[in-house]
Amino acid sequence: MAAAERPVGLVPTMGWLHAGHTSLIERSRAADRTTIVSIFVNPTQFDDPADFERYPRSEARDLATCEAAGADLVFSPPVEEVYPAGFDTTIHVGRIAGPLEGAARPGHFDGVATVVAILFDLIRADRAYFGQKDAQQIMVIRRMATDLAIGTEVVSCPTVREPDGLALSSRNVHLSPAERAAAPVLHRALLAGRSAWAAGERDGEALRTTMRSTLAGEPLARPEYISVADADTLAELTTVDRPALLSLAVRFGTTRLIDNEPLG
Ligand code: AMP
Repeated sequence: MAAAERPVGLVPTMGWLHAGHTSLIERSRAADRTTIVSIFVNPTQFDDPADFERYPRSEARDLATCEAAGADLVFSPPVEEVYPAGFDTTIHVGRIAGPLEGAARPGHFDGVATVVAILFDLIRADRAYFGQKDAQQIMVIRRMATDLAIGTEVVSCPTVREPDGLALSSRNVHLSPAERAAAPVLHRALLAGRSAWAAGERDGEALRTTMRSTLAGEPLARPEYISVADADTLAELTTVDRPALLSLAVRFGTTRLIDNEPLG
């Protein structure tokens, strides 16, 4: 991308773009001379082959969204271009990739770190924009970029939500009407945790219990993890005496949703 006017901003996505993605594009447009969107459903970050197969895809729809959002360039490589025959390198980020999504989805962050390193190297952006919805992903990518001395600045952007609080996600398209109606319970549980914390609760387990009880009010919600963790290390907290991250992974039928809320 040597010819692009700098600063160059990169918005890495897996497509099926929604208002969360366009908020990242807009953020780049406000700061950068050139905004590049990558669209690549990265096979190596899916721990579940069925999830990869059914991940929603539509190039035409995504190109129209990028154009409407004012992106300058879309990079949508075929799998063989990113992983040519003989490809045999994995980037493994250590401690910060261990808990939460790393524990629930073995190999997921190896796939993320490897593909993002390739994108950063190909595009040489000045900044890259990521959503707070995937909070641990941002931490993993920051660690990787710092450790590998990659000059791209990693910018974190707020989570965009539906009016009922559900975080926008490409996977929301898989929810049945009943599951869609149930799904805002993730955000309600996080807000219940935040309210308890704002009222002075500092016991980690009490905050987990608060979130668990909110989720239990929704029979279609099957929690996978309920976390109150140190915002820097993601280690689970017994006492919330420092900045923390509340995070949840919850299944609705075959669809797995995540969300989080920073505290402090
Ligand atoms: P994905 O296409 O799901 O891999 O997401 C691409 C980028 O968009 C990631 O940095 C996500 O964190 C971000 N993103 C996804 N959903 C949202 C959302 N609801 N609000 C803000 N950013 C989001």
